Amino acid sequence: MKKLALHWQILIGMALGVIFGLVANTLGFQEFTIDWVKPFGSIFINLLKLIAIPLIIASLIKGVSDLQDISKLSQMGGRTLGIYVLTTVIAVTIGLVIVNIAKPGNSISEDTRKELIASFSGDAQKKIDDAAKTQSKGPLQPLVDLVPSNIFAATTSNRNMLQVIFFVVFLGIGLILIEKEKAKPVKDFFDSLNEVILKLIDLIMMAAPYGVFALLASLIVEAPSWDIFLALIKYSLCVILGLAIMTFVFYPFLVKTFTKKGFSFFMRGISPAQLLAFSTSSSAATLPVTMERVEEHLGVEKEVTSFVLPIGATVNMDGTSLYQAVAAVFIAQAFGIELTIGDQLTIVMTATLASIGSAAVPGAGMVMLVIVLGAIGVPEFGLALIFAVDRPLDMCRTVVNVTGDACVSMLVAKSVGKLGDPKIKNWDDNYKTT
Ligand code: ASP
Repeated sequence: MKKLALHWQILIGMALGVIFGLVANTLGFQEFTIDWVKPFGSIFINLLKLIAIPLIIASLIKGVSDLQDISKLSQMGGRTLGIYVLTTVIAVTIGLVIVNIAKPGNSISEDTRKELIASFSGDAQKKIDDAAKTQSKGPLQPLVDLVPSNIFAATTSNRNMLQVIFFVVFLGIGLILIEKEKAKPVKDFFDSLNEVILKLIDLIMMAAPYGVFALLASLIVEAPSWDIFLALIKYSLCVILGLAIMTFVFYPFLVKTFTKKGFSFFMRGISPAQLLAFSTSSSAATLPVTMERVEEHLGVEKEVTSFVLPIGATVNMDGTSLYQAVAAVFIAQAFGIELTIGDQLTIVMTATLASIGSAAVPGAGMVMLVIVLGAIGVPEFGLALIFAVDRPLDMCRTVVNVTGDACVSMLVAKSVGKLGDPKIKNWDDNYKTT
């Protein structure tokens, strides 16, 4: 019998996870789910994270050293960052337009506001403290943080992804500059390591349907009560509408306009990465799969994916920036604070920067939201208002973050002549089997 395509298996895993979670909630099996189901979800995420740093090292060294000359690298780097910032600014603007038209904060009643603040103020305080730690450093600190003083120390945490990227690009440049003969053994080693890691991703992905089942089941049993969700539904719908526009209209439009590839080509190619982004809420954890899908199914050559995607996972977060814009205005509306055009422009700027600064892990966007709120003078404890719905929205915005990276890598690839035909054309094929 023919095996079901991977994205269907993942979708079924997700649906069964939700059903299991709901049944567990009704029958009082929450503890059982947390003790016996959740760990499998954690193991799955750990496996994905485990592979992230080795993958970046192997594939980026290969990607950069394959470029042959430095001017190609700087050309690609400039375009990548330029398009990343542009898409982020557009995302913030879309968010602002929606939230200003729908005004979801005006409909939240005084009582609900008090209730939300009372139940989530402790959690909100923790996020505010985390953000304060980031802010207390000087303005050039992010630049200083980019350059690791010890590469082995840098590779010990997935949070240091940019430091690892810096070192690896540097090493790749060294490889381009020395004689080909001398560079060959190092290149061959990393080429082969790269193949091994891609195989490991295949193996990990075989467990994806079970992993997402466990993740969603435990999310459902750990979620706060539905009443609170309902109070925030209008705000959530604004965020989701904006995210849907990005995913289903904006990116496919860019892909179609600049690469002539159609909607379903793009969506089918990237969908397993999107489903994984949704289940894990982490662009970093999804990165290995994003890379493989963009390369094998969207036809982007390795030189581009290995450079554009790891950087994108850390700095390009269109979904996060859109969410931050909507959330900031929503909280201001709920507190009855009028925002001027100047304030809205400040949101465009700070949400763009805050999304760049957000780590590619669950909940990071909310920590950096504190900075946006501070910049427009909205009380930071207002975070408590949106806490209850943050996780589901995090799942959705991570999908956009990952889709945005894939879209930009297609555009950059096209502009440097590195967009070809996908290696895997038959969509019913199960996961890469070569
Ligand atoms: N979870 C998001 C990501 O990993 C970041 C965030 O918005 O919290 O892309």
